[in-house]
Amino acid sequence: MIQAEIITIGDELLIGQTIDTNSAWIGEQLSLLGINVRQITSITDSEEHIIETLDKAKQKAQLVIITGGLGPTNDDLTKDTLVKYFNTRLVENKEILSSLKQKYENFGLPFDDVNKAQALLPENCIPLPNRRGTASGMWFEENGIVFISLPGVPYEMKGILQEEGFPRIKKHFNTPKVIHKTLRTIGIAESSLAEILKNWEKELAENNIKLAYLPSPGFVRLRLSAFDATEQTEKIITSKVKEAYRLIGEYIYGEDNQTLEQIVGELLKNNGKTLSLAESCTGGTIAKLITSVSGSSEYFKGGVVSYANEVKNSVLHVSTEVLNEYGAVSEQVVRSMAKNVCKLMKTDCSIAVSGIAGPGGGTEEKPVGTVWIAVSYNGKVSAKLFRLPYNNRERNITVASNFALNLLRKKLIQ
Ligand code: ATP
Ligand code: MG
Repeated sequence: MIQAEIITIGDELLIGQTIDTNSAWIGEQLSLLGINVRQITSITDSEEHIIETLDKAKQKAQLVIITGGLGPTNDDLTKDTLVKYFNTRLVENKEILSSLKQKYENFGLPFDDVNKAQALLPENCIPLPNRRGTASGMWFEENGIVFISLPGVPYEMKGILQEEGFPRIKKHFNTPKVIHKTLRTIGIAESSLAEILKNWEKELAENNIKLAYLPSPGFVRLRLSAFDATEQTEKIITSKVKEAYRLIGEYIYGEDNQTLEQIVGELLKNNGKTLSLAESCTGGTIAKLITSVSGSSEYFKGGVVSYANEVKNSVLHVSTEVLNEYGAVSEQVVRSMAKNVCKLMKTDCSIAVSGIAGPGGGTEEKPVGTVWIAVSYNGKVSAKLFRLPYNNRERNITVASNFALNLLRKKLIQ
């Protein structure tokens, strides 16, 4: 398997000002290409440090990808350091120079010497054009090892790799055929899944198909990967996926890159249903998820963030007697919220959530993580109690929001 290393350069990465998302994305993409990332390193903008890290990387890796420090300012040292490292010199690249001039003209900005320096590239590199910015990517080959240097700006770095870098990598390394299939589950713990899938897993290993459990709060993704895949492998994966649906189908909400909010949106659209929301502890998070999907205006009408009891009463008409008798976090209140928001917004379905996100506010009877969720669907309301195990506000809000979407999803597929 081809070994790769990723090096991200920038002082800001080491002082916690910028989170190194470049490595995570590149790592994921390389693994999809069947390339093994053996190390990720973040270093400061220092010549000595860059050279030392490159020297180490090339001992074990056939592919080294570097991001950051390609800008025209004094704090950007990567290009000059690479010139030194490869014992070469900077030469002006005519095509890049004219495309830079064009870009500045389009933006209505003056073109000065600092900008011109962006057209100077090491003589031994193959330029990887940057259609979104001014710093070109660069491809170097030395003693059979490929080095790719890219700008730090994530969106430019991704663009260059997708358009120029990955196609070149695939060709150069003749990367193997890789198949990935992901099943997305919600509402079941990793350990319980593993228990159910014990025998199912064995057959995967026998066929050289790797299985990864990828948990995140509320969710577990199951990723099947086959390297050097043949048609036979493809068939086995298809049949194993079918089998997984038989074993854990009730927990699977989607595959590959589908998100829960996309799935719910599609189901609403296909069924011709409209949705409204009444959110208390999730504070609008469900609305945010729903509206993150383009085209959601077709099915989403609106929501009420009824945080105070006063608003639950005055806007959603939850009676004060019910609120006083059962408390805001109760079955009766979420049922009433769900039913009334449907009426208020004239929708076919609704979701209502009320819970204790914490870390404060828990009681013995209703500890932090207690969440009531109701779904109204075609005039019928159902409600469910969740006792989330987290003493973390953000986690409780995220998980409650997703569990709420999942309850609606289940109604929509019934
Ligand atoms: P520019 O031409 O824009 O100066 P550059 O190659 O010099 O490009 P940097 O100066 O290192 O890039 O970083 C530019 C921007 O990209 C900064 O906002 C920085 O925070 C961000 N960035 C840099 N490296 C990373 C990384 N590894 N992950 C996420 N963001 C990053
Ligand atoms: Mg910079």
